[in-house]
Amino acid sequence: MDIIRNLKIIHRRIETACARCGRNPSDVKLLLATKTVSPENIKMALNEGETLIGENKIQEALKKFEALKNEKIEQHFIGHLQKNKIKDALKFADMIQSVDRLDLVEKLDQRLRFEDKSMNILIQVNTSEEDSKFGVAPEHAMELVKKTSAYDSIHIKGLMTIGIFSGDEEEIRKCFRILRQLQIRIREENIPNVEMEILSMGMSGDLEIAIEEGSTMLRVGTAIFGDRVYPDTYYWNESGK
Ligand SMILES: *Cc1c(COP(=O)(O)O)cnc(C)c1O
Repeated sequence: MDIIRNLKIIHRRIETACARCGRNPSDVKLLLATKTVSPENIKMALNEGETLIGENKIQEALKKFEALKNEKIEQHFIGHLQKNKIKDALKFADMIQSVDRLDLVEKLDQRLRFEDKSMNILIQVNTSEEDSKFGVAPEHAMELVKKTSAYDSIHIKGLMTIGIFSGDEEEIRKCFRILRQLQIRIREENIPNVEMEILSMGMSGDLEIAIEEGSTMLRVGTAIFGDRVYPDTYYWNESGK
């Protein structure tokens, strides 16, 4: 496993995809999806200039970010967030990318106000309509954004999605287009306390398609750090606590 070499390959892939669709590579951020990756291996990537880290599990994140506390990094939570873990999430998260329901928003606001804090979030949308993934259904996303915007403690910065797992490129592209269309429609509403700068979409296998469809943040794990021991469903399903 050669993290430094893999990172170079990823950046080359980003540059090539950007060149193909006339985008500036600096408009596409790379977030390292570091579930199961050791702090030592994460540090190798940080030494190469990476700064954005995303973790899926609260306990794992708490431990890992403690080990990385002297590093200059932005720490995102990208996993399914349970209400009883909000307090722990607030200990490390600079951004929560996986807000997908109003009861979670309410609890998040309560805790934020208690701590006299605010939080940047993304709304996670289930663009593939697969049961195994979290996220608000596309047709309910606008309503969730509007209701969430009423909470002063919470700042919506954009949208996040996981593309469908499919060998069919058009199926994947469809997911990213749904997110992009939502971004456009939400922008048109000019909702106070809502920004739509971030489109977090694209992973190891589909980042080129995501870039073509307007991604501003890729979340990449295996293509940098190698295969994970646990299947992704362990991290994405309700059973994977
Ligand atoms: C693991 C994970 C990724 C990265 O997936 P890879 O296929 O390893 O690049 C991206 N987003 C989320 C939410 C993840 O859990």
